Amino acid sequence: MFKLSPYISSTIWGGRRLIEEYGVKTDKKNAAEAWVLSCHEKGPGIIATGEFAGKTLREVYEADRSICGKNGARFSEFPILTKFIDARDNLSIQVHPDDEYARRVEGDSGKTECWYILDCDEGAELIMGFKEKISRETFKESIENGTLENYVKKIKVKKGDFFFISSGTLHAICKGVLLAEVQQNSAATYRVYDYNRLQDDGKPRELHVSKAIDVTKLEEYQGVPENYKRKGNAPYTTGYEQLVRCDLFSVGTVKTEENSTGMADENSFVSLVVLEGDGAVECGDEKLKLTKGDSVFIPAGSGKYRLSPGLFLLETRI
Ligand code: ZN
Repeated sequence: MFKLSPYISSTIWGGRRLIEEYGVKTDKKNAAEAWVLSCHEKGPGIIATGEFAGKTLREVYEADRSICGKNGARFSEFPILTKFIDARDNLSIQVHPDDEYARRVEGDSGKTECWYILDCDEGAELIMGFKEKISRETFKESIENGTLENYVKKIKVKKGDFFFISSGTLHAICKGVLLAEVQQNSAATYRVYDYNRLQDDGKPRELHVSKAIDVTKLEEYQGVPENYKRKGNAPYTTGYEQLVRCDLFSVGTVKTEENSTGMADENSFVSLVVLEGDGAVECGDEKLKLTKGDSVFIPAGSGKYRLSPGLFLLETRI
């Protein structure tokens, strides 16, 4: 197992909470996103501890794909990208294609994602799908005449809320929201509306309206589908809560107590991201100290691991 140093991106909407509260190190003016589990070529995670220190996770994965486990065999690339996102301002309203469209048009994977709300300002909101089913013509017109915000569903959020965003769901993170995102490892994003903002170079960011119209589901947001709430065998002795389990990933939280243990079997790697607390993880004869914001990757087949009490973790498997 090893810790990962994140890739950091700075954008027009980013804040500084990841730097001030989550141990993110950067010279950039803000940390909009910290890619805490990433094999993506645009922002690969760097291994920070152990025998592979200094290499990218991508290099280690390319050399030995078995670190993902048996369940990794059905994916052509490393399957998951996990990020912290600090939205000081609104993110664009956007949508991601499904696998079929993304492969055909972008040569990339589609993107289904999910969000766990770490913290937010009083009254903060997200945009998720539409208030009610709308026609393709209405959707197109509302983008063209700048009235899209009248049709989208705005949801007030609080710490601990969870959202599942299947590909094709129109969505936006709005200002004052700090969240953790687990998603398919893809960069296929179609921006629909960017609040008429300009970047530092004085230009607006590119929009991708016609592709967005191709892929957007014109429905009311439905939440986590019933069949994705399956409760599998809890992989922990105590404190595990499953948030979603679908074909792409299984995401949950772990609140550790005395003698908390988990298991990295041969089916999947385990990604642990520290949301709160300080402590340690031990696996075999290895021990890593943990603090808020840390990301640990436990290769498939590593076996049982012990977690010290007082940690609150986001856990992802495939
Ligand atoms: Zn998205």
